[in-house]
Amino acid sequence: MFDGIPPEQLYGLAAFYLLLCGIVALIAPSRGKSAINGFLISLLLSPLIGFLVVVLLPPENQRKCPDCGEMIRKDAKLCRFCQRELA
Ligand SMILES: [Zn+2]
Repeated sequence: MFDGIPPEQLYGLAAFYLLLCGIVALIAPSRGKSAINGFLISLLLSPLIGFLVVVLLPPENQRKCPDCGEMIRKDAKLCRFCQRELA
């Protein structure tokens, strides 16, 4: 599969790949996702897909307020934007 590629170049490539996975894992928590999930998605699918999943998908621990449409915590009982009480 990797015929013709010098081993040292392959190691460099693997290290770079892991570095990218690590970067996605670092970004994930700031987007409301777990770092481990971000890392695993990157490792299995590719760092690019991991990055897109982390950045584009809505945070796991948030939901939309039905009243004002702002993103609020999933377990919030009161919207911090419009003060609406949530069931
Ligand atoms: Zn609201």
